Amino acid sequence: MTTEGHDCVLVINCGSSSVKFALIDLTREAPRITGLVECVNSPVALLTWKLDGKKHSKPLPDATLTEGLAEVIAVLPADVELIAVGHRVVHGAEEFSGSVIINDRVLESLERCSALAPLHNPVNIAGIRAAQKVFPELPQVGVFDTAFHQTIPEHAYLYAVPYAWYQEHGVRRYGFHGTSHRYVANETARRLNRKSEETSMIIAHLGNGCSACAIEAGKSVDTTMGISPLEGLVMGTRSGDVDPALHEFISKALGWSLDRVMTALNKESGLLGLSGKSNDMRTLVEAAAADDPHAKIAIEVFAYRLAKSIMSLTAALSKLDAIVFTGGIGENSCKVRARTLEHLQVLGIEVDSSLNAVNGESNTGRITKEGCVPCLVVPTNEELMIARETSTILKS
Ligand code: ADP
Repeated sequence: MTTEGHDCVLVINCGSSSVKFALIDLTREAPRITGLVECVNSPVALLTWKLDGKKHSKPLPDATLTEGLAEVIAVLPADVELIAVGHRVVHGAEEFSGSVIINDRVLESLERCSALAPLHNPVNIAGIRAAQKVFPELPQVGVFDTAFHQTIPEHAYLYAVPYAWYQEHGVRRYGFHGTSHRYVANETARRLNRKSEETSMIIAHLGNGCSACAIEAGKSVDTTMGISPLEGLVMGTRSGDVDPALHEFISKALGWSLDRVMTALNKESGLLGLSGKSNDMRTLVEAAAADDPHAKIAIEVFAYRLAKSIMSLTAALSKLDAIVFTGGIGENSCKVRARTLEHLQVLGIEVDSSLNAVNGESNTGRITKEGCVPCLVVPTNEELMIARETSTILKS
């Protein structure tokens, strides 16, 4: 299929040692090429990409981030009209309630936001600087995970801690996965044939990181992640909510520093910590089917905590038109969805097990019986949302 004359956006998601990229055709709203530059600054650095359904790879020993990105140019199809680079940026704090064209002032602000996201923002900034070198003629646009949640009201974003912490240090709930929640909210309203402004829903984005979001009239009104992506639901390796007193207790019990405790809560907890086996839900579902008691309890805690958060988020809504599952786990695990919804019987929800078994593969994605709150599976598409945002910002 030719895309001659079609504008494309290169979407870049930069992690600590890898960069995911996708070339999105804005007319077809589909990726022409997707790929990954991984293990940069190491002898095993590698570029992999998928074009027209075929996988390719090229070793790039010791390539830096910039050198890796420069190699991406060579694999882009020749007929592409690249109009901009769209960057996923994790934390925009209160400074960014929407996407922006990146300039020096924006980069300075992003540096300031790094204190709130020390694991994520510095690598996003490195990705932007590398892309500026490789594509100096193209506009670069930042699309923030936090921006969609800037509509959360004060009573939902404030923690009950000294107010000066908020005023002086920005201590508040920011929320993440905003690009995904926004895309899925629009798509859900479309599938339900409703206007976004008249639809209230709760979306559970369940990937390696997990968060749920209450959306009223197309706007985020509360979410489970907080000042960092550690709060809220049980995740692959993150604990989600714990008693704040746990930090002091376990640090005294084990003689650990605060840094060590934080590493354990971020990297050794969640599904991995509970199961002692894996952070990967698919592996755990298989192990549970083979009667592994640790895998079973990890899934039970995950589903119960998710159900509890969904119930608590209903407090933010005037009505509930849909509960939506997305992300790798949400889109693919009928077991997790079924176990979660079993805890929501108080809402009168009844799962249709045959629809659930096929991940709601109908035009709406519905997995519940008629006559109750619709629960849907709606695949997310963060790359497309970043490309759309990039194009919108350029036009405005
Ligand atoms: P990321 O947050 O890194 O984008 P994904 O959204 O791809 O991650 O989600 C990854 C999670 O989805 C993993 O825990 C993986 O095991 C899970 N997953 C993918 N497919 C299935 C499946 N068929 N059954 C259960 N879990 C699945």
